[in-house]
Amino acid sequence: MKAGALFKPIKNFDNNLAHLYEHYLILDFHRKLGLDTASTFGWVGGKTFEDYLFIDYGFYNPKIEKSFTDYLSQKKDFNEKQILEALSIINLEDKIKYRITNLELLISQLEELENMPWNIDKNSQKPLPKVIKQIKQQEPSYITTTIKLNSDDPNLHKLFLRFKVIIDDIIQRNLDSNYPNYSQGFSPITIWNEGKYADFIKVNAFEAVEHNAILKLCQNTIKNFDLEKNYQNIKHHFDYFREEPLWQDVQIDYYKYSGVITNNQKIAQLATIDNLQQILNKLSFEISKTNQDDFDSLV
Ligand SMILES: [Zn+2]
Repeated sequence: MKAGALFKPIKNFDNNLAHLYEHYLILDFHRKLGLDTASTFGWVGGKTFEDYLFIDYGFYNPKIEKSFTDYLSQKKDFNEKQILEALSIINLEDKIKYRITNLELLISQLEELENMPWNIDKNSQKPLPKVIKQIKQQEPSYITTTIKLNSDDPNLHKLFLRFKVIIDDIIQRNLDSNYPNYSQGFSPITIWNEGKYADFIKVNAFEAVEHNAILKLCQNTIKNFDLEKNYQNIKHHFDYFREEPLWQDVQIDYYKYSGVITNNQKIAQLATIDNLQQILNKLSFEISKTNQDDFDSLV
């Protein structure tokens, strides 16, 4: 696993602008990587505080780390369409509706932030004017996606405990490219549910969402996923999973929450193309409305 974090000091920038920049980078990098590759690469995330913004990442394949560092050093084309998409995501995250008051000025501020080097703790002296205005509170709609494995095969249950991380990512990437949404993450562990299923949930906030459309998107994403083409990336994932010392005690959680006794070595050994394909063939999805309490409990 190649993991790391980068920061920029942002004291002199409007905090909403810095937050927009963080989400723009994450969105733009995922798009540039392409859906299929992005599905199995690891993660890029971020967090914007008052004084600093952070980008963190973890890659299973060292080649992707190179793409990421190359991406960060390239000049970005801050286009209006993606700026608005990134803004929709922070609307949902902050539960506030934002409006851009001056797009040209906003792009020049994004460029100014872009030109500041990473990991150097030095603020510029001049405070910049605000270009994002809060207009009104909005209440996003929340959904929970439950993914179930319909199988009695104990080996598939074991493999699903980890493969679900990849499945979740594949679905999230497709959601991101189709709907403005903000994911609150997903259950870290597969939970034993209704006797024979392993499943997990996650909560997404949307501006407006048809449950049936999301259900179809989940089903089609899995149906169209080219396992053979992505198998090398998936193998990298399981190779790291088998060896990574920080993940060795995850087996205690597997036992506690799912009742499945296994270990990382066994799971990695089960990750053959045939087993992975069987899991993909035996998944079903449920989309349900999530209330605020469920949403907050996952934070
Ligand atoms: Zn954010």
